[in-house]
Amino acid sequence: MANLKKFMAHVDMVKISCVDSTELVEEARKIHKLNPTPTAALGRMLTMGALMGASLKSEEEKLTLQIIGDGPLGSILVSTNHTGDVKGYVSNPRAEAPEKPNGKLNVSGIIGKGDLRIIKDLGIGEPYVGSLPLVTGEIAEDFTYYFAKSEQIPTVIALGVLVDKDGSVKRAGGYILQALPDTPEQILELIEKRISESKSITEMLEDGMSLTEIATYISDDLDTYEVEERDVSWHCDCSRERMERAIFSMGKDAIEELAEDEITEVSCHFCNTKYQFEKAEIQKMIAEKQK
Ligand SMILES: [Zn+2]
Repeated sequence: MANLKKFMAHVDMVKISCVDSTELVEEARKIHKLNPTPTAALGRMLTMGALMGASLKSEEEKLTLQIIGDGPLGSILVSTNHTGDVKGYVSNPRAEAPEKPNGKLNVSGIIGKGDLRIIKDLGIGEPYVGSLPLVTGEIAEDFTYYFAKSEQIPTVIALGVLVDKDGSVKRAGGYILQALPDTPEQILELIEKRISESKSITEMLEDGMSLTEIATYISDDLDTYEVEERDVSWHCDCSRERMERAIFSMGKDAIEELAEDEITEVSCHFCNTKYQFEKAEIQKMIAEKQK
């Protein structure tokens, strides 16, 4: 069953994308050995990546979401493509901050102040880069602000990660709801009222609601219908060849320094896979570079 679905509501004036990202976020937690608050922070970003990645159209298009904060977490980077592959990492997987008074994980506490960056590479020409200061550091609000500023359409974003007592991801998910600019005020008010009364996305998933039921509920329109479905999952496309190209693209001095070691080990930031290169291979690269 697909874990991301897109819907239309209110006679095609409102579009909704809804995702159950539980497995995706749990995979990230295991790979990066994330503490609970970094799990929530990276999990929300991965969920947003999954939702925004669903609008990419071709193989060449790539989307990178980045938060650069001054808190203990450092930065968060998430990358996605049109096939629903999502990957990401944080600078400090062990960052923690005291819980909020309401008992919730203090995501903004580990992010601090900083910027949100959105890089859309359409595979042709220069990538589009959007950058805005963080509003709250709670991520959903920061993206809501970004959409209000950049696209100027009413947008509601919900992102949630529920971390279990043992630190694993019990439930993760999110939705993005956008209304066309000429949507009547009364429909917007209806949706606003419904969302203000609704449970959180993770609570709705916990209650066993399907993505269709969630979209129908939050839009407050029984005629909400599905237009597309897709699978999103954790996937890192790194390989020995890619790492070799990365080393090759370094400066000559830097590569020569690597050639001093018997074994050069490089690891992928996204999935921690380690790749080893022998001295002879590095020397071959130097010779190749001098051609
Ligand atoms: Zn990798």
